[in-house]
Amino acid sequence: MPILLAILYGVVIYRFSAWRTAKQLDAQSTELADPMLRVLMDRMAAALDLPRLRVHIYEIDPVNGLAAPDGRIFITRGFYNKFRAGEVTGDELASVIAHEMGHVALGHSRRRMIDFSGQNALRTALAMVLGRFIPGVGPWIAGLLTSLLAARLSRSDEYEADAYAAALLTKAGIGVAPQISLFQKLDALTQSNGGTAPAWLLSHPKTEERIAALRALETKWAPAQ
Ligand SMILES: [Zn+2]
Repeated sequence: MPILLAILYGVVIYRFSAWRTAKQLDAQSTELADPMLRVLMDRMAAALDLPRLRVHIYEIDPVNGLAAPDGRIFITRGFYNKFRAGEVTGDELASVIAHEMGHVALGHSRRRMIDFSGQNALRTALAMVLGRFIPGVGPWIAGLLTSLLAARLSRSDEYEADAYAAALLTKAGIGVAPQISLFQKLDALTQSNGGTAPAWLLSHPKTEERIAALRALETKWAPAQ
């Protein structure tokens, strides 16, 4: 019975957060219509045999890219402004779009919402069971175990989305270099920001490790001399 309740609770939370996310995104976004980025997006669309890619601008300041559970891709106004100011190149912004497309194509954005609600259900169920055996710290241990599991899941998602983006950017003739240079730029921004990383980096694994993984792919795919 408690487990059944926990699952029911999870389903309700899942439905509600998916609905709320979609509402917020609808209310605060417009389609990205930058001509220079359009050229790059058309090259990626051609590489995927798609008529065209649609990307939206989400009207918030933090530097971030986002794949919504319904499959739409968003770049924040803050990120786009960095491009307009010349701090981020078109190729680098295209690499973020490619990364978010990876999350959509590989089913992460949908799974992540399920993960989120699944986590709540798991945490509640664990807390109930553990609380019975170890009163006091039971719920705390339940929370810790659930967070550890979630971190592992999202880490592998990031590497997979990076690899998808690397393949797509390579096929589109843009290459892996802008992915690497963007990571380095955002990392440098973190140092000058008094250690505050842009949101896009915060939710991701260590920069050096991601760069190393990309370099390995680049070497593997390099045409034989
Ligand atoms: Zn990601």
